[in-house]
Amino acid sequence: MSKELPIIVIVGRPNVGKSALFNSILRKRVSIVHEQSGVTRDRVVAPGEFHGRRFLLVDTGGLGVHHKEKTVDVFDGMIREQVAEVVEEAAVLIWVVNIQDGITPQDQEVADFLRKSGKPVVIAANKGDNVNARADAVGLFAALGYEDIIPTSCTHSIGMSDLMERVLELVPASAGDVEAETAEASAPPMRVAVVGRPNVGKSSLVNYLLGEQRVMVSDIPGTTRDAIDIPVTLECDGIELPVTLIDTAGMRRQKQIDTVVEFFSLSRTNNAIKRADLVLFMIDATDPCTTQDRRIGHVVVEERKPCIILANKWDLAERGSKEQEVVARIRAEMPFMNHAPVLLLSVLKGFNVNKISHRLLHVREQMGVTVPTAVFNQFLQDTLARTPPPSTGTKRFKIFYGVMRSCPPPKFILFVNKRSLCPRNYSQFLENQIREAFYPEAGLPIILELRERESPQGEKASGIRQAAAGAKRRRESEFQSVQRRISHRKGQRNG
Ligand code: GDP
Ligand code: GDP
Repeated sequence: MSKELPIIVIVGRPNVGKSALFNSILRKRVSIVHEQSGVTRDRVVAPGEFHGRRFLLVDTGGLGVHHKEKTVDVFDGMIREQVAEVVEEAAVLIWVVNIQDGITPQDQEVADFLRKSGKPVVIAANKGDNVNARADAVGLFAALGYEDIIPTSCTHSIGMSDLMERVLELVPASAGDVEAETAEASAPPMRVAVVGRPNVGKSSLVNYLLGEQRVMVSDIPGTTRDAIDIPVTLECDGIELPVTLIDTAGMRRQKQIDTVVEFFSLSRTNNAIKRADLVLFMIDATDPCTTQDRRIGHVVVEERKPCIILANKWDLAERGSKEQEVVARIRAEMPFMNHAPVLLLSVLKGFNVNKISHRLLHVREQMGVTVPTAVFNQFLQDTLARTPPPSTGTKRFKIFYGVMRSCPPPKFILFVNKRSLCPRNYSQFLENQIREAFYPEAGLPIILELRERESPQGEKASGIRQAAAGAKRRRESEFQSVQRRISHRKGQRNG
């Protein structure tokens, strides 16, 4: 699986449809993740896929909006700098303009800014809601000096394929998405452990997921002592998702052990969890959590595995039972598992079982997300402004800047003045905020490491921003080499 997805950044003056385009390219309404001074804003970064090629999409509109009560011009002052930092990390830029307005003075400003960036640009001439408007697009924006002008209408989902085909042609061959494509084909399937105490419905679920493919099970000898590995291809919206189910209930079927208590052993479950990329943790929706449930939950957390809680037998719930109440009960009983989304399920009735593959696909997508340094520091700045760390005595905990180190699971390093000044609940708060902003609903554990460092003169107030600039410098040589590869490819194409 790719660790470095190429970054595609959407830029443009306000109100041209950047956020609409972001959603259209991702073909979904992207969840709204955080609120700032009463303004709700959309996500600014999300993983996407087009014809099997994977990338990270960034909406710079989202970067500006939260700074003031209303939409601000992302090409003004400080925000312009932030956009510049994000643009630095981009493989390609999508510049959105509005066919209905033609070229405006603000577009000219954006043009100057983009020229300086030296990045490849594809223009999305948006709001081309009818044929005539779209036919005019190229003539209308030719003066901007870019060859690639693709008419689009986000409202009618027109032009997205043309746009993305062109954009992805410009992503250098050596960047992460091409690796992702080949890695994807040869990557081992995702290992999914199905765990839970006896009688919650594990066997039933595995059988359900196998469906037509059940016949295969007999052909596969138990591959480990503890569990049976069953390769299966799940389908989700036409996308095939090969997974290996690690079936801890399978041994019982194989060995004809009669009593479930005899079968159950925590070590079997532990091993399955250790070997898994993701854990489907089954519990009973209608029973309070047991000690055994909690023990399994603790292993999942200790092993830092992404996890989805499946609350099964929902069909047995009393009439009028509410989903939120069940989820609230589970949260109260296993607070240490708060990061894991809960899916109510009835394997017996087939209720919500098809949602499992959606969730798996989502987790797989999220596992490939690396957060650009500039976006991460922008996020930190926001979060610190909104909820500053509490002071302990006379000293206050300070975060100078942060970087993402690895994924999965996503690991972030924060450079701080003094670790001991950070209360446990504040680092937990930061973990939750990171999860919400970049990995919503995926059940991924977030690893946050605090490292102490000296505060150089003048860095106190603007450390985060300076750090982003530092990262920018470090990346410069990398960008130059990407640029060289692009010109080389362009040369090859023209020649
Ligand atoms: P942003 O500020 O650039 O992110 O712009 P938004 O995505 O918020 O869109 C601004 C307005 O333009 C919203 O009211 C959208 O519904 C509208 N809009 C976006 N795309 C289209 C389009 O293709 N056609 C039309 N007619 N309106 C659009
Ligand atoms: P395991 O021990 O976790 O593998 O559980 P099984 O799959 O063997 O299921 C235990 C019992 O629960 C069996 O009698 C299943 O038929 C039943 N069962 C499984 N799923 C459901 C469900 O969604 N609703 C109800 N009512 N019963 C279920």
